[in-house]
Amino acid sequence: MLDAMAPSAQTATSAQTATSAQTATSAQTATSAAFRQGAGRLCLDFIRTLRHRGGPDAEEELADPAALDAWIRQFGPYDDNTGTTGTGTAAREAGRADAADLLAARALREAIHRLVTTARDGGPARCDAASRATVNTAAARPVPVPALDASGRLRHHADEPVTAMLAVLARDALDLVASTALDRVRACAGERCGALFLDTSRPGTRRWCSMNTCGNRAKKGALHARA
Ligand SMILES: [Zn+2]
Repeated sequence: MLDAMAPSAQTATSAQTATSAQTATSAQTATSAAFRQGAGRLCLDFIRTLRHRGGPDAEEELADPAALDAWIRQFGPYDDNTGTTGTGTAAREAGRADAADLLAARALREAIHRLVTTARDGGPARCDAASRATVNTAAARPVPVPALDASGRLRHHADEPVTAMLAVLARDALDLVASTALDRVRACAGERCGALFLDTSRPGTRRWCSMNTCGNRAKKGALHARA
C-alpha cells in the first residue's frame, strides 16, 4: 500500500532517462541522467541545479560544460546542439558550452536565485544591483529564433545557442518577479529541500516541489508516524 505510487514514479524516471540517453552523444554519456524538472518555471528548474545551496553538502549539478549542455538539451528548444554556427572556441563552433559559458551560467543562476528570493521577501526592488545587472545583461542577448520548416516542424536556431538559452532563463526570471505569479512561488516543505516552485494549484496550497519525491516522502513519513 505504501508503495502504491512507486511504480509510476519509476516509469517516469526511466522514460526520462531513456529520452536523454537517446539524444546524448558519447561525450555526454557521463551526464545523461535527467535533471529534476517540474518547478513550473524554467528559471526555477535552473536554480535547482545547485542542490542544498549554502549548506555544507551543497552539490553542483552543472559540474562541467558537458553538464550544462545536457541541461540545455533537456530544457531548451533545440533539436540538439549541432547544426548551429558561431564564433569563438571550438566548443562554441560546435554549439556546445565551453568553460566561459559554464561560469556565465552559474553566475546567472545565482543572480536569478538572489533576485527571486529577495523579490519574494519584499519585492524585486530589494534585489542587489549586481544581481539585477547580471540578469538584465543576460536577458539582453538574442534568444533562439523559431522557424517552421517545410515538413511542419518547428525548429529553433541561435548563433550562440548556450548564450541564447541563458537569455531565455534571464527573461523568464524577469517576467516572473515582475508579475503576480511571484505570489505563487513557494519553497518546498520537504525536509532539507527548500526548492522554489510555482504553485499552479487552484487553491494555492501546494507544499512540495514534486509529489514523486518530497511529497511522497512526507506522506510515507506521516503514515509511518501514524502506524
Ligand atoms: Zn522538494
